[in-house]
Amino acid sequence: MSEYIPTIGLEVHCELKTETKLFCSCRNSFGAAPNTNTCPVCAGHPGVLPVLNRKAVEYTVKAGCAIGCRISRYSKWDRKNYFYPDLPKAWQTSQYDLPLCIGGEVRITVNGEEKTVRLNRIHLEEDAGKLVHGGGSTAVDYNRCGVPLMECVTEPDMHSADEAVAFLEELASIFRYAGVSDCRMQEGSIRADVNLSLSRPGEPLGTRTETKNLNSFRSVRRAIEAEIRRQTEVLESGGKVVQETRRFDDATGEGYGMRSKEDAQDYRYFPEPDLMPVVLSDEDVERIRATLPELARDRRNRYVSDLGLSDYDASLITADPATAELFDDAVTAGANAKKAANYIMSEIMRKGKTAGEDGIVVGITGMQLADLLALVEKGEINLVSSRDVLDKIWLTDMTASAAVDALGLRQNNDAGEIEKLVRDIVAANPGPADDYRKGNEKVLSFFVGQLMKATKGKTNPKIAGELIRKVLSE
Ligand code: ADP
Ligand code: MG
Ligand code: ZN
Repeated sequence: MSEYIPTIGLEVHCELKTETKLFCSCRNSFGAAPNTNTCPVCAGHPGVLPVLNRKAVEYTVKAGCAIGCRISRYSKWDRKNYFYPDLPKAWQTSQYDLPLCIGGEVRITVNGEEKTVRLNRIHLEEDAGKLVHGGGSTAVDYNRCGVPLMECVTEPDMHSADEAVAFLEELASIFRYAGVSDCRMQEGSIRADVNLSLSRPGEPLGTRTETKNLNSFRSVRRAIEAEIRRQTEVLESGGKVVQETRRFDDATGEGYGMRSKEDAQDYRYFPEPDLMPVVLSDEDVERIRATLPELARDRRNRYVSDLGLSDYDASLITADPATAELFDDAVTAGANAKKAANYIMSEIMRKGKTAGEDGIVVGITGMQLADLLALVEKGEINLVSSRDVLDKIWLTDMTASAAVDALGLRQNNDAGEIEKLVRDIVAANPGPADDYRKGNEKVLSFFVGQLMKATKGKTNPKIAGELIRKVLSE
């Protein structure tokens, strides 16, 4: 048992999903061939001038409104100077003393307890390029240079890996709902630096280290746990924690010191002479605030209290804004909430998910889903054939009813017709019929299977089961 309490503050970088970069009109898109999304501005040629992308400011303000920041009416740009091959200009255009958003907070729930993590600020800056190591050399890809990046800095309010991960998940959810960032960890569109120190209860915070550039929730967790262990060992053996910048190696699960921490003065910050300050009116801010949709946390609560979903189901549905949107629309179109939720959690999530990707593609509207569920409810199709209907209407505007007809799936609910078929099948299988009469209930599924085979699955399974029992018991 350690007597030390860990304290954690995060610096989270989120790429904004604007069409173009922050200061030029190059495309902001992931996965293009190296160095194809570049121009003299983002490639840092001398003598070029940046032009601010208003959308990036708007998205950052929207993000700030979503977490209750004060939005600055006046903010400015600063040059953060450093030399590194991923930064051809040798300075990053960022915001130093007058960021766009100040304060704010995010509520998280950890082990059933709610707590608040305060934010210090959100500022807007440009991303650097990407170094690609391999084959004994290093290549640079400048496609990411100039991509708009929000840096969100928290107060040191978290005290465990669980809290840090819960904070990141909540922040990512808020930004996805606000539509400002995809926050895709694998694509590096959200990355976190972990500041961590240990202290004894009641004493001032200890010396912190900063572990840079963690790009999955899993490595954030592992890096925190490893750093808590390391600092505990240092302190318990009578040593002092050295303030430094560290890296975490996912392969070995260990962190290592990189350099002693740089101070703000090492960057020779100075005001960017090529860009005007950003001036926002109250009307600008209110206009942007008005575009915020209902966020995941509020929706989750509404689904539980107004629509009767369980906490678990409500969390699953709201994990992605696309499924929450579909659910809300389906309910508005008349679907039963519980049935819509179940269908989304099983069929839609299965179909809309691509292996290795975070997001879910939702290929139908709430209207189409409500129609599909009504057909199942009325016994026109069964759940199994609803999958074929789903395939047919996915990413089209065809109604579920039209698809059922086009596929010839409309289920047979005519008891007279079904009974006739059942009699034929029972007559053709005297052995299994005898087994059933001797008490072997399992044979029932054999007959259901035969019937479905004969009718290509288009028999109402409920009616089928009842009739098979009836005929066999005669
Ligand atoms: P810098 O400008 O040197 O990066 P900041 O004051 O901006 O330092 O803090 C950066 C991050 O470090 C913030 O998220 C903050 O909450 C966190 N932090 C500051 N002091 C501590 C500490 N003693 N222990 C853990 N985190 C800390
Ligand atoms: Mg910092
Ligand atoms: Zn460019």
